[in-house]
Amino acid sequence: MTQLIDRFGRRIRYLRISITDRCDLRCRYCMAEDMTFLPRAQILTLEEIYTLAEAFVALGVEKIRITGGEPLVRRGALELIEKIGRLPLKELVMTTNGMRLAASARQLAAVGVRRINISLDSLRPERFRHLTRVGDLSRVLTGIEAARQAGFSGIKLNTVVMRGSNHDEVVDLVRFAVDKGLDISFIEEMPLGVIDGHDRAAVFYSSDQVRADLMREFKLLPVVEHRRTGGPSRYFKVAGTESRVGFISPHSHNFCADCNRVRLTVEGRLLLCLGNEHSVDLKQVLRRYPGEGDRLKAAIMKAMEIKPERHYFELDEQPIVLRHMNVTGG
Ligand code: SAM
Ligand code: SF4
Repeated sequence: MTQLIDRFGRRIRYLRISITDRCDLRCRYCMAEDMTFLPRAQILTLEEIYTLAEAFVALGVEKIRITGGEPLVRRGALELIEKIGRLPLKELVMTTNGMRLAASARQLAAVGVRRINISLDSLRPERFRHLTRVGDLSRVLTGIEAARQAGFSGIKLNTVVMRGSNHDEVVDLVRFAVDKGLDISFIEEMPLGVIDGHDRAAVFYSSDQVRADLMREFKLLPVVEHRRTGGPSRYFKVAGTESRVGFISPHSHNFCADCNRVRLTVEGRLLLCLGNEHSVDLKQVLRRYPGEGDRLKAAIMKAMEIKPERHYFELDEQPIVLRHMNVTGG
């Protein structure tokens, strides 16, 4: 039973941990071309991340997602994930760009990662390179294949849809997911961090538009209860297949009422909401009072008092949240 309950009665059972702000890609909606990453002294050590994960689990968190930046670029990531996998969790999951999965998929499954999300915004090599600035589609496809062989209980593709960039590929992406026996979620771009060279309002393509495009090709059956995990996705089954299609719609369908999650940045900031700056500096507590687990837990419990009721995203305004998604931990 979780001890983490906010002012609105929401029970927090899910922690997303960004284990690095670094990445081997530079997706245009996530990062500016020229990013400055955090200096080492400012980021949590692997031991500190583990101590925090342990404290959250002791307070009732049942599910942890490892994310980033690209989690697999952090040295020691697999050992950390293995340790976290030994905590009494219902679920350990991960989000990755797939670039390094070929080498680590089997090990990730072996150390207890149950489900994995792999980002894939295009199936066309040049377009993929353009969207990620430096990415190599063939590596990601090899990574997806390795994940399929590795024995995860679920693999989901994540696609951020942008008008004029990849909105014309949603049908192809669903076909690919169906062929490979995977799920796929389409995500509306969120105004996190200032990025260059791309006007977010102009490229906005809503989940409803994606769904309408898909319904011309596929029969989508609403999944009752849409696997209510407190997650923001609304799910549909592609009729006659094992694949589900999800829609994550921070603009067009607010999902805050059921929010059961908080996020830990690699700087040790506990973010109470994706779309707000409300946060608590847990690194400071850890470093000032080493070994004082009760003090850390008290700080985490107190943080629940400032979890905002909801986020407001305005596409036409400058972002109110200045951190980029690689810091937030998507
Ligand atoms: N590097 C890993 C990856 O790409 O899967 C994990 C971290 S990434 C920040 C997590 C997810 O956030 C990805 O699926 C990415 O497409 C998504 N993302 C990044 N910036 C976003 C934005 N501004 N709006 C919506 N989704 C975003
Ligand atoms: Fe890296 Fe993921 Fe951000 Fe792309 S979305 S730049 S892969 S952290």
